[in-house]
Amino acid sequence: MDFSLSSEQKQIREMIAEFVDEEIKPRASEIDEIDEFPHDLVHEMGELGLMGMPFPEEYGGAGLDYHSYAIGLSEISRGSGGLGTVVAAHISLAGNMLYEFGTEEQKGTYLTPLAEGKDVGAFALSEAGAGSDVPAMETTARKEADDYVINGGKLWISNGSVAETVTLFAKTDPEAGNKGISSFIVRPEEDEGFFVEGTEKKLGDKGCPTAELRFSDLRIPESRRLGEEGEGFVHALKTLNGGRITIAARGVGLAQAALDDAREYANEREQFNQPIGEFQTIKHKLADMDTKLSAARLLMHQAADLKIREEDFIKEAAQAKLYASEVSREVANEAIQIHGGYGYTRDFDVERYYRDAKLNEIYEGTSEILRNTIGDQVLD
Ligand SMILES: Cc1cc2nc3c(=O)[nH]c(=O)nc-3n(C[C@H](O)[C@H](O)[C@H](O)COP(=O)(O)OP(=O)(O)OC[C@H]3O[C@@H](n4cnc5c(N)ncnc54)[C@H](O)[C@@H]3O)c2cc1C
Repeated sequence: MDFSLSSEQKQIREMIAEFVDEEIKPRASEIDEIDEFPHDLVHEMGELGLMGMPFPEEYGGAGLDYHSYAIGLSEISRGSGGLGTVVAAHISLAGNMLYEFGTEEQKGTYLTPLAEGKDVGAFALSEAGAGSDVPAMETTARKEADDYVINGGKLWISNGSVAETVTLFAKTDPEAGNKGISSFIVRPEEDEGFFVEGTEKKLGDKGCPTAELRFSDLRIPESRRLGEEGEGFVHALKTLNGGRITIAARGVGLAQAALDDAREYANEREQFNQPIGEFQTIKHKLADMDTKLSAARLLMHQAADLKIREEDFIKEAAQAKLYASEVSREVANEAIQIHGGYGYTRDFDVERYYRDAKLNEIYEGTSEILRNTIGDQVLD
């Protein structure tokens, strides 16, 4: 058992941390304020290989192992929670759908531009009436000769209004429940019948557009189907399992940002003629924040380790995501408390971390659904 990073993993972390400190952190408040997709930063991240971190070089990726990818995603999220979602949805969801279930031709055509950062990806699963309850989806893909004709709509789609490639789930056999769902590749700029209805006004996660999509007789060739008909539900579950490692990473990054700011403030701020960090209550808060963050990071790496070894990691990914999500919210909350009144204002970043962290408990499996998943495995 070895808990230390390899020298290559350390180098990757340092390289990404430097980019985050120089390019992302100084822009994070502005991104939060204007809530627009930062095309220039995403382009720069593409140049650095950050939009294709875990994919093999033959598909335009950086070929990083899953520990390094998780470290990279947590560093990006330390800079901006919104950018963390942009990258997680692009790589862990859209990219991984193509990498795991695409043919060689589909990977060459659609994954490579994603991994190189030339295209942006989105993953369109959720609908107004189908969030946790995925099989309740109503979007259909009707077979017509060699084409599919898609009708319906999706809600809450990260990157949905800016993506060039969308991996989309629809029912090819509406009577067959979860076995009637299939997955497809859709290209909003090429395919007629793809409409962006708008984007959500959110509590946090700014800079990552969360879009409502509508499909009206959207016709795509059969060659855009991923895998076989009826495999879509399994594709979604497998992809979300891997994705949970990166939402854990987003939690770790946000908690690290909150702890860093709280520590600095506790050293600087004086009350009763001493730094507030010298009050035992504040010191103990920092101790708990650091301990929880370390535990969340270890759970993240445990899940990544099992994935690398190609062992079952459903429970461990759910635990990592559940725990890191709650820790990110708790640590950000304590960071606000340590900042006192200042922490409740936009003059400091801790309130942004809190707003960004809350999302971790909702998307890619709510904390309640994850407890169901973990509980089922414990009882098994
Ligand atoms: C900012 C943002 C970005 C998102 N990005 C994407 C994306 O890129 N792609 C995508 O497809 N989706 C995305 N989502 C959707 C997200 O995955 C869903 O919101 C989430 O799965 C919850 O679904 P819901 O909102 O319909 O809530 P519901 O499923 O209606 O849940 C409401 C409440 O009931 C609880 N509940 C539901 N079922 C159970 C149960 N069986 N047991 C116990 N409790 C239960 C939930 O835990 C929750 O507390 C995003 C959401 C947000 C907010």
